[in-house]
Amino acid sequence: MLNLIRWFSLAAIAILMLAGGAVAQAPTGELSALARLEPARSSMQVTETGLTLTLGISQPVPWRARLLDNPPRLVVDFREVDWRGIEGVRREGVADLRAGIFRPGWSRLVAELRRPMVIERAGMSTDGATTVEVALRPASAQEFSSKASVPEPPGWTLPKPAAISGGNPSDDGRFVVVLDPGHGGIDPGAETEGLKEAELVLTFARELKDLLMRDGSIEVFMTREEDAFVPLETRITVSRAAAADVFISLHADALAEGEAVGATVYTLSDEASDAAAQALAERHDRADLLAGVDLSEQDDMVARVLMDMARTETAPRADKLADALVTSINAAGLRMHRHPHQTAGFSVLKSPDTPSVLLELGFMSSEKDLERLQDTEWRSKMAAAVRDGLVAWARDDAARRGLK
Ligand SMILES: [Zn+2]
Repeated sequence: MLNLIRWFSLAAIAILMLAGGAVAQAPTGELSALARLEPARSSMQVTETGLTLTLGISQPVPWRARLLDNPPRLVVDFREVDWRGIEGVRREGVADLRAGIFRPGWSRLVAELRRPMVIERAGMSTDGATTVEVALRPASAQEFSSKASVPEPPGWTLPKPAAISGGNPSDDGRFVVVLDPGHGGIDPGAETEGLKEAELVLTFARELKDLLMRDGSIEVFMTREEDAFVPLETRITVSRAAAADVFISLHADALAEGEAVGATVYTLSDEASDAAAQALAERHDRADLLAGVDLSEQDDMVARVLMDMARTETAPRADKLADALVTSINAAGLRMHRHPHQTAGFSVLKSPDTPSVLLELGFMSSEKDLERLQDTEWRSKMAAAVRDGLVAWARDDAARRGLK
């Protein structure tokens, strides 16, 4: 017999705490050790009434389950679960099943649903082995969205931005570059031939950071140093905290359509310069949605007029930066896209006062680009080209602004 600690008949959100108390409370005693997924006891299965997610874990931990929309998905958050082996878990009836670190101390499993479904029941049993079960049943779009739109409970807020000590004011003679390796953790980005965009761009970012630091006059911060999920908003916050002179987001996406080949530099626009650029922007923003972070409220908190004023000055500087990068990458003889400078509505470029660009190093969907991305020599040439472009731009920009 299953000894069910709690079975919830759920309206929208279940917060199941073994120890009780607030969601963000640290577990105590033996609960603090890292729990592991037991893949052999885990599955997502189609049942007579819908879908059932079963997760075997090595020990009880605080957890919760909820629904999120756009696209419809079930999100299950756990304290400190090691998800190794999740790729091998049987998965039926879902578009995707993934898991990873969501923020320090918390990990998240996301099941992307093929149709609107709601939580019928959810519980954890600890009879011999610890098992979490979440049963879903089909629902109307209306019922789903009303349940998915329930706000997060108090105490379950955005993670603190990565702490950066001694933020420095702009125009103090130091040139601060923030590198933003795209994706990470629960969001691997593009995937092909067993390679992940998140890993490829992190490798490049580390190499570029080393090269820039060697210059001596450039200070470099990264929005992530490891394979962890970082919400878009936090990436911008890191940039602000570092008093960045320049923000460069690094990607290597896959595009399903067309023959996208070569490096491309993107700057922010409301309207994307082409459909592929728009698709990319949507995919990047969707990664945040997948992990459950909603940026829309953050926008409201900022005075839009002030942002627009700042952007009026920043946008032409970002354009010049993009052009300088295109020039230096071309000069290095590296392959560029036939439209090397494009615009798109990437949220990560929305910092109002920091010239920001997104550099697609190449496309993982192109065999040749994929080869180049894995080639150490190519990467070092690309890193040198980016440095040259940055240095040239910084000199011109300072002159234009009358700083030097
Ligand atoms: Zn990407």
